[in-house]
Amino acid sequence: MRLDLPLRSGEVALVGAGPGDVSLLTLAAAKLIGDCDAIVYDALVSDEVLNMAAVGTALILAGKRGGRPSASQDDICDRLIELANEGKRVVRLKGGDPFVFGRGGEEMRALAAASIRFRVIPGITAGVAAPAMAGIPVTDRSVNATLAFLTGHEASAKSRMDWKSLVEAFPVLVFYMGAKNLPQIAVRLLEAGLAESTPLAIIYAATLDEENTTIATLKEAANGTVTARSPSIVIIGDVVNERICWKD
Ligand code: SAH
Repeated sequence: MRLDLPLRSGEVALVGAGPGDVSLLTLAAAKLIGDCDAIVYDALVSDEVLNMAAVGTALILAGKRGGRPSASQDDICDRLIELANEGKRVVRLKGGDPFVFGRGGEEMRALAAASIRFRVIPGITAGVAAPAMAGIPVTDRSVNATLAFLTGHEASAKSRMDWKSLVEAFPVLVFYMGAKNLPQIAVRLLEAGLAESTPLAIIYAATLDEENTTIATLKEAANGTVTARSPSIVIIGDVVNERICWKD
């Protein structure tokens, strides 16, 4: 099946919008965004991407973002099903990739359970795009053969993660949603055995005009000398030392 075929009436596309820069949309995403009846989008989807919608497309903010009052996941699923049952051609637009910390799986299951026809359009995930923009290779033959993508929420008091095994298995760690918990993340990693001098990069608003990269050490993150704003990707490990800044 071609991913960019026009949506049928009553069909939903779970579409990855990429990290923000509209030129990083896939061709399928651009086509479907420009030719649908309704777009249900998350708060992290950039205005530039939403501007690709045709005049008359219903733009519905479904976003859930830390701390703000927002629709529950069930409400979002119900809304998608309702729109599809009205015969609308629906794009469910999510930042990055729909299945990377994007709850796309839950929405897919809800659509399948309601017998709604759907397709999935992968997107460029922030955990890959942000380091690339900062000139940091997420894998480098001289440094790592593996890497881990994690959510920073796991650093809270009720962490389910075995941090010691984590740092032993993965020389490079890429944290999503790590801005708020950055000090706790750093403390846990130090406790797990990483050196205080371990380099990290905080990449804020990757691919957008406000993009900004901060390089620091684990020690500086643990003691609050550096802080991070949301949305940021935090990448930790020696690949940060391989950085070559390629942007003006
Ligand atoms: N599905 C998304 C991730 C959603 S979780 C994806 O695949 O990229 C939200 C987190 O993604 C944010 O807290 C931040 O860590 C990261 N993120 C999303 N867009 C970003 C951007 N442009 N720059 C830096 N981080 C970003």
